[in-house]
Amino acid sequence: MKVRIAENAGFCFGVKRAMKMAWDELENKDSNDVYSLGPLIHNKQAVDRYKEKGLVEKDSLDKIPNDSKLIIRSHGVAQKIYTESKSKNMDIVDTTCPFVKKIHDIVKDFSDKGYKIIIVGNVNHPEIIGINGWCNNEAIVINSEKEIDNISFSKEDKYCVVSQTTANLELFDKIITKLKSKIENLTVKNTICFATKERQLSAIDLSKEVDCMIVIGGKHSSNTQKLVNICKDIVPTFSIETKDELEKNKLQEFKVAGVTAGASTPDWIIDEVIEYLKEI
Ligand code: SF4
Repeated sequence: MKVRIAENAGFCFGVKRAMKMAWDELENKDSNDVYSLGPLIHNKQAVDRYKEKGLVEKDSLDKIPNDSKLIIRSHGVAQKIYTESKSKNMDIVDTTCPFVKKIHDIVKDFSDKGYKIIIVGNVNHPEIIGINGWCNNEAIVINSEKEIDNISFSKEDKYCVVSQTTANLELFDKIITKLKSKIENLTVKNTICFATKERQLSAIDLSKEVDCMIVIGGKHSSNTQKLVNICKDIVPTFSIETKDELEKNKLQEFKVAGVTAGASTPDWIIDEVIEYLKEI
C-alpha cells in the first residue's frame, strides 16, 4: 500500500508547547506530586506516558492539596481557577495556548464593556467551559444554525461572538450570516486557530488524491473528529487512535492511503501507523 501524509498533521504549536512545558516540569520535579486539572490533552496514549513520569490527574481543584504544583493545560481554564488556585497557594504552570488566551482576553474585555457574549462551539468542551468562565458563565453557546431559532436576542443589547479554536470554518460563517440577520449590533471575532484551518484544508486536499483516509487521534478530540467528518465526505475514512485498530482485511482493497492526525496526536503514534500501512 502506498501511503501519503497530509501536509499539516499531528501536534500543533499550542499542544507541542504545552507538552514540552509539562514534560520539563516532570523532569525537574522533586518528591512532591505535579497535578493537572483534567487530562493534559485528548490523547490517552500520550497522557499515559505523562502519568508514568509522575503526573497526577484530578478533575477538580478541591481534590488537589494546597501548595501543590498545578499544570493548566493548553485548553485553558476559567478565571476563577486562577483565583482559587492562588488562594490555595499553588504554583501554577500555565500552558494555556496563546490563541486560547487571546479569546479569554476578548471575552473579558467585551463582557466588561457590557456586551453579551456568544460562543460558537461545543458547550461541554473544556475550552468552551474555560472561555465562558471569563464572562461569568453567561455566554450563549451555540453549535448549529438551528439552535439560533430558539434564542431571543434583545434589540437593546450589543453582542460579541467568538469561536472555539477548533470550530469548522464553513459552519462558523453560516452561523454568523444567520446571527447578522437577527442581531443589529454584532461584533464578530473569528478566533478559529490557523492550525485547525491548515489541518482541515490539508485533509481535504489529500482526501481528493487517495483511495482512503486514515485519521489518527483521540475519540474525544474535537479537532480529530472534525477531520474524520471532513474526510468521510470525500473518501472511505477510518478513524483510529493507534495502529492496533487498523483492520488489514478492510484496507487491502485500497492502493493509496492518506494519513492525517489531530492536533493532539504525537508523532510516534503517527509513525507506527505509517509503518504498519506500508507493510500491507
Ligand atoms: S489547535 Fe490552535 S488553539 Fe488549539 S492548542 Fe493548537 S495552536 Fe492552540
